[in-house]
Amino acid sequence: MTSKRILIKNGCVLTLDKSVGNFHQADLLIEGTKISAVGPNLSASDAGVIDAADMIVMPGFIDTHRHVWEGILRNIGTDVPLEGEVSYLSMILNTLAPAYRPEDAHIGNLIGLYSAIDAGITTLLDWSNIQATREHGDAVINALQESGMRAVFAYGYPWWKNPDEHQEAWIRDIAKQCFSTKDQLLTFALAVQGPEFTSFEETKAQWELARELDARITVHVGVGSAGKQGKLGQMGKAGLLKNDTTYIHCTTLSDDEIQMIVDTGGTVSLSSMAEMIMGYGMPSIQRLLNHGLRPSLSVDAETNVPNDMFTQMRSVNSLQHAMIFDRKLAGKRNLPPFMNSRDVIECATIEGARANGLLHKTGTLTPGKEADFIMLRTDSPNILPVNDPIGAVVWGMDTSNVDSVFVAGKALKRNGKLLNVDLDNLRRMAYKSRDYVMTKSGFRLPEI
Ligand SMILES: [Zn+2]
Repeated sequence: MTSKRILIKNGCVLTLDKSVGNFHQADLLIEGTKISAVGPNLSASDAGVIDAADMIVMPGFIDTHRHVWEGILRNIGTDVPLEGEVSYLSMILNTLAPAYRPEDAHIGNLIGLYSAIDAGITTLLDWSNIQATREHGDAVINALQESGMRAVFAYGYPWWKNPDEHQEAWIRDIAKQCFSTKDQLLTFALAVQGPEFTSFEETKAQWELARELDARITVHVGVGSAGKQGKLGQMGKAGLLKNDTTYIHCTTLSDDEIQMIVDTGGTVSLSSMAEMIMGYGMPSIQRLLNHGLRPSLSVDAETNVPNDMFTQMRSVNSLQHAMIFDRKLAGKRNLPPFMNSRDVIECATIEGARANGLLHKTGTLTPGKEADFIMLRTDSPNILPVNDPIGAVVWGMDTSNVDSVFVAGKALKRNGKLLNVDLDNLRRMAYKSRDYVMTKSGFRLPEI
């Protein structure tokens, strides 16, 4: 039996794979879950044809760190910083999160995941620090499966209480029950609390557990004042840093600590919007680039910031330029190079795939990789005429241009509409869950 074939015809194709190239006009042939060919004038007589004229076809965006359960808490703390008397930590993690039942985590996740698909994100790492019971794990994993996305389920310890003796058993159980193979849309990682938020011994034990289970590690480091204590350096000196770890933020790490990440092959996730608005410290983009490290990008917290990668790309690119121009205006010389649109689109795709441990499967439109791609409309008034396709994606487009989204050859969005989701029901469930969490926690929504 031959697998189903789809021919995406006459699009502007950005493979982002230098060995394949980008094309002003070309076709993409999908066979089953994989890309089988890219190039001009492909023919496949038995394939279903999708017209991509007036479209840019490119790899789906990849988000490497988002607390997806917060979907029902969207924009609830836009003026609230990370630390302080009323803060993200006190309000979201210590007041609202403990009120979540498994069904609230489920609907929070669904809301976050469908909006990610809608925005052209095909792979997302769910930093799921809502794991209060074993059932919370199943609820979140079910939502990830239901969405159809490619995702990394990063099991996260709840932050409002100390890890108890159950956590390790639940983690082992989930790894065994749901992640016995890596040949599926969902893969497994451990979202560890990290040395800035728990003891060295606890951190070491969590990292060793991840490695025993062959799971990648994702960890917040260099976070505000907590990041200034040299804790990551202690981990490095103890030989615990390896190439299986993604370091989130890195804002207040020392240069020596950043070099340790480079030397051990680690990857980085920058959430520059959240870092700037919430007070994590100055985003580390230039310091990372100085050390030869290109970051992936991430949304982080929908409680505070927008949930699409267009915003992330523009935010990090503008910031890097502002920092260099500022030095130039101050008379400094021998300045580092500017990031360009191509650099930043690669951070939102290729570097995301690398940080999620999935570069062999996704991140570029390379024959043999999984068919995770998006089609972006170029005939909309906000973008025509397209003079530079990469510049248009990075600087001109927004989520309204996302026409189609495919993961592993399967359409999740077509003609600007999400597929396989009952939006009316989703909306009802979101408000119901949101109201439950507010009542249970005693939290009052902001006055207007
Ligand atoms: Zn985070």
